[in-house]
Amino acid sequence: MAVPKRKTSKTKKNMRRGHIKLSVPGMSACPNCGEMRKSHYVCPSCGFYDGKEVAAAKKD
Ligand SMILES: [Zn+2]
Repeated sequence: MAVPKRKTSKTKKNMRRGHIKLSVPGMSACPNCGEMRKSHYVCPSCGFYDGKEVAAAKKD
């Protein structure tokens, strides 16, 4: 069985893993308040979804 001649350096290991990264969730601006929110989710700042208030707005 083939055995690597040298230890893989941190640089080479990280270069190979360069495409592995956290994915960013799909975000869009809320049409009611303009805050960024996740698509298909109730807006966390104003509680609106599909033009209606469906959850209590967060007070802050
Ligand atoms: Zn909103």
